[in-house]
Formats: sequence, structure tokens, C-alpha cells
Amino acid sequence: MEKKIYIVRCGEVALKGMNKPYFERVLIERVRKALKVFEDTEVKWIDGLMIARVPASVPEDEVVDKCVRVFGVASVSPATKTSKDIDEIGRVAANIMSALVEEEGIKTFKVKGKRADKSFEIKSPDIGRIIGESILKACSNLSVDLHNPDCTLVVDVRREGTYIFRRKVRAVGGLPLGTNGKGLVLMSGGIDSPVAAFMMAKRGMTIEAVHYHSYPYTSQRAQKKVEDIVKVLAGYMGTIRMHVINMLPIQEQIVQNCPEDETTLLVRRFMMRIAEAIASKNGDMMLITGENLGQVASQTAEALVVTDFVVNMPVMRPLIAMDKVEIMDKAAEIGTYEISIQPYEDCCTVFLPKHPVTKPKLARIEKSEETLDIQALVEAAVLSEEIIEIRP
Ligand code: ATP
Ligand code: MG
Repeated sequence: MEKKIYIVRCGEVALKGMNKPYFERVLIERVRKALKVFEDTEVKWIDGLMIARVPASVPEDEVVDKCVRVFGVASVSPATKTSKDIDEIGRVAANIMSALVEEEGIKTFKVKGKRADKSFEIKSPDIGRIIGESILKACSNLSVDLHNPDCTLVVDVRREGTYIFRRKVRAVGGLPLGTNGKGLVLMSGGIDSPVAAFMMAKRGMTIEAVHYHSYPYTSQRAQKKVEDIVKVLAGYMGTIRMHVINMLPIQEQIVQNCPEDETTLLVRRFMMRIAEAIASKNGDMMLITGENLGQVASQTAEALVVTDFVVNMPVMRPLIAMDKVEIMDKAAEIGTYEISIQPYEDCCTVFLPKHPVTKPKLARIEKSEETLDIQALVEAAVLSEEIIEIRP
């Protein structure tokens, strides 16, 4: 079966020292998993380069799209492999260029020679020049433009052969998933929490999610929206497990027994407690939220301190110092933004106080909670969880 070759470059993994073999092993498994949908695909390390061989019948863009979503991958190039015979390289390069002239109407080009194999007798600039001449001979209507060419062809001579490619598509980067523990993200239907989950996963952390709703005050459609968001994330991370919990019994207790202006904060403290209980049960080492300093009343410095106080587990807030616009751009880049802005209610907005406290005092908040049986409420919430698996 005819195969097409893809060069899959790793980013930060390449900078690792002693642990590099471990990171490389995990990364290649991740790439294999991402490309498993294309039958008869193989992925191997060849001479320090990760090479995927995919049946030529699979459209190039589909393969690239899978590769660029793998954390740890820096860039991908669909390529052609040939021998190290300079005449042969010239012929193959000329064929590639004449096809491009026909398909895309390319008029100018440049060849960039590279020589990873330093024992190869022709130096990089000469490779570029010689192959450029072969192309010019074969394609009479093409001309060389070194500064602003329609197409740059890279000719990379390596120990076991030569790779010729044109496109280098940027990938997500980061570190391979599964190389940096496991975390539980508090996932709302908003813009921020999906970005927070993505950023932690990009550093190698395996992600689980917990979502709180207030059904029937919040609708099933609102939960579907969260599932749609998590589905987009699963496109990068594989199947994601989401714990779904009804907050309404707790919210009702708070509304009946505690000061109105503290409602949001008290609910948030319960969200953290329940998340910690779920995380402990499932081997998650830390919690992740989409909180951001100063964005809303419940995210002032004072409010964050009061929220944090109820848990012992580290709480990661990767968005803490980002501007809203930066977060929105990131969400758009990942592909969650359009879903996040759909107008469905969130459990936080169900009993929204008119004037929420912005500078809460811990002692006062703790006093307000005295009327509640915290442990029983948390245990009941955890027991009522529904677990759903969200596939890419
Ligand atoms: P987001 O855009 O992520 O909803 P936000 O700016 O609306 O964030 P808040 O509503 O104060 O901020 O929520 C802060 C964080 O608390 C969220 O980023 C998320 O991690 C968590 N959170 C809020 N609502 C829920 C929910 N219904 N289920 C799970 N976690 C939630
Ligand atoms: Mg929100």
C-alpha cells in the first residue's frame, strides 16, 4: 500500500535531559493513539526524528489536524522521502514542484538545503543551489525568489535518507499528556474553565472534570453545552471523565440559612470541598479552576483567600494573571469560545445576590456556615454524583 510520510517534531521534550527517553516513549504512544483512526499507520523514531507513515489515500490535512492536537508535538510536515543521491533528489524535487505549479499556480520558489548528516559531501547552501537548478531545468515557467517566494522547499539530507517538504504546520506544543500527574478541573459552561483545563493538560497533566448544576433551575440544555465544550477538549486529551453533581440541595440550605450577600461565596466554598472529596477518591493530585484575579466579585484577592481556605489540596489557577481578552483569544484558538458564549444559565447565577460581598472576612463567612451540616452536605453531594465519559 502506498504510504505518505509525515515528520512529527517534538518541542520541549527535545530539551529534556536524563528523562528524555521516558518523555519520548510517552509522546510516540500519544501520536500513535491520535493516528490510530487511520488504518495501517505506523509511527517510528528514525534517526532521532518521529516519522509517521500513513496510507496515501488519507487526505493530508486530516493527518495534520490529528498531529497538531497532540500535546508535546511542536510542528508537523507532510514530506516525501528519497535517497541521498543528489540527482535522484533533484528529480523528486522537480516532480513535487511541477505538481505544485499545476495545482496552485506557483510562480516563484526557493530551496532551503539542510544537512543533518555532516558526512554528506555537499554543504547546505550548495544543496539548495543544485536542487534549485534541477527544478528550474524541469519547470521552465518557474523562477527563483530568495526573499519572497510563493513556495519554499526544504531539502533535509539525513543519515538514512532525504526528506523534502514544504509545509511546517505549528502544533500545540507543551509536554506529552500523562507525564505530569492528574488533576480535577471545576468545569462550568463559561469561557475560562475550559482554557484552564487546556493549559494544565498542555503541561502534561491528565484531566478529569466536575460540573455542578442546579437542575431544574438550570436546564438539561445547559449541561449539554458543558458536554459539548468538554468534547472539544477531548479532541486534544482523549476521553474525559466528568462527574456531574446537583448543587441545588446545598444552595437551598445556604439561601435559607445564610446572609444573602454571601451566597455566591458560600456556594463556591462547597464546590471546592466537593471537588476535593472527588479528587481524593479518584487519585487526582490537585484542583484546577478558571479563576482570575479581580474578574468578578467572587474573584477578588480576599474572596480567593476565603475560597481557598476550605481545601488542603493545591488549587491551580492557570488564568490568574491573564486579561479577559487574552483568555477569550485562547478559547477561540482551542475551539471552545463559540460554545462557551451560548447563553445558558449556570448554577452560580441561579441565586445571585444583588450586592455580593467583595471583601469577605473569613471569620464572618465561617460563622455564617455554622448553621449548616457541612460534612453531611458534602457527603450527600458526592454520593449523588453521576459520571459521564465524554469522547472526542
Ligand atoms: P468560567 O468562565 O470558567 O465559568 P467565570 O469567570 O464565570 O469562569 P465563576 O463563575 O466565578 O467565574 O467561576 C470561577 C470558577 O469556578 C470557574 O472557572 C470554574 O472553575 C468554577 N465553576 C464555576 N461554576 C461552576 C460549575 N457550575 N461547575 C463547576 N465548576 C464551576
Ligand atoms: Mg462561570
